[in-house]
Parts: sequence; C-alpha cells; structure tokens
Amino acid sequence: MSVRPRPRPGRVVAAVATTAEVLAHPELDADMLAPWEQRRLARIRVPARRDDVVAARLLLRLCASRFTGSAPDAHELVQFCPECRQDEHGRPSLRDSPRTGVSMSHAQGLVAAAAGPGAVGIDVEPATRRPGPMAVLRRVLPEAELRAAAASRDPGPGLLRAWVRREALLKAGGAGLPLLEWEDPGRGATAAVASAAPVDVLPGIAEPGCR
Ligand SMILES: [Zn+2]
Repeated sequence: MSVRPRPRPGRVVAAVATTAEVLAHPELDADMLAPWEQRRLARIRVPARRDDVVAARLLLRLCASRFTGSAPDAHELVQFCPECRQDEHGRPSLRDSPRTGVSMSHAQGLVAAAAGPGAVGIDVEPATRRPGPMAVLRRVLPEAELRAAAASRDPGPGLLRAWVRREALLKAGGAGLPLLEWEDPGRGATAAVASAAPVDVLPGIAEPGCR
C-alpha cells in the first residue's frame, strides 16, 4: 500500500520516463485506459509504438494524480479536436476537472506528461534526434533560435531544443507562455514544458512517494 504525495496547488507536475519504466509502474495499468483509447491502440500496428502510446497515456494519469491528489485511475481522459470538431484526438483534458491542463508526448521509447493549473504543453525527444530538414525548421523556428544554433560548432542539439520548445508551446496553445527545458541524460531525453505556472519535474517515477 503506497501513500500518495500531497499535491502542491498551483504548480505543474511534469515527468519524463522510459516507456518500460511506466509500463512497470506499480500504480499504473493499461486497463486504466478507456474503451475508446483501447480501440485507437488496436489500430497501431507497430508494438513498440503502441507501448509508447499506452505509456504516455498512463504517465499523464500519474501526473494528473500527483496534481489533484486523486488516484491515477480516478480521472477520465477525453480529447477534442476543434478543427474537425471530433472527439478522441486533439488536445487532451480531464472530464471531471476541465480547468486542469494536461499534456503528453512520446518518442521512441521515451514518454513525458504534465498536469497543472491551466494551459500546459510538454514535448520529449531522444537527445540524439536531429530535427529537419532545414527548409522546414526555417519556416517554423524563430529566427533568433536558428541564428544561435548556426553560430555553435554543432548546431544539432540547439536545433533539437528549439524544436522541443516549439512543440511544447504548440500543445499549450499559447505562444507567449514561459518555458522550462531540461536534459535527462540518464534516459537520453530532451524535454520542455510550456506553462504560466511554476513546474515541478518529478525526479523519477518508480517510487510512489518520490518528490
Ligand atoms: Zn482533428
């Protein structure tokens, strides 16, 4: 029996983990996913990618649980896409707690999630990934970021960080939001969170009481 840590109101809870860590977590189980999520998963043909998606959705529930103080399976995750006005994709939210902002990301065995007061966006990428091609980056990254990366001896890591920041901002839906960016060398991850609220990054997810 584990004791959940006391929530810290007004602060975002964010976490980066490997897919394997999340799938082995004692508080989390793929059965927590809703039937509509299970149906979506069944359409993903590559098992490793399916595992990443499951893990991202479970880690989101863990972060939501740390933020609200409820159990990870207490929240019903919903998604809505304003462009096609359809459920089951687009920005995620919690049905019972619509003002809580939630976000998730997955990439090649890595997952990240965040939950907090209001709009929040998170992105994770393998630190070795190099975004591109440059023609695309020139269109989507701020000029100053491109210049700063180009000025360094190896522009790759700078471009990746700029890319991760952009993705986090897009998911939060707010261009002007403050960003927290960090490296997780143990997991080989580069991550960023966009939120107006201060962010607590869980140091690890293996211990239920870790903070
Ligand atoms: Zn859509």
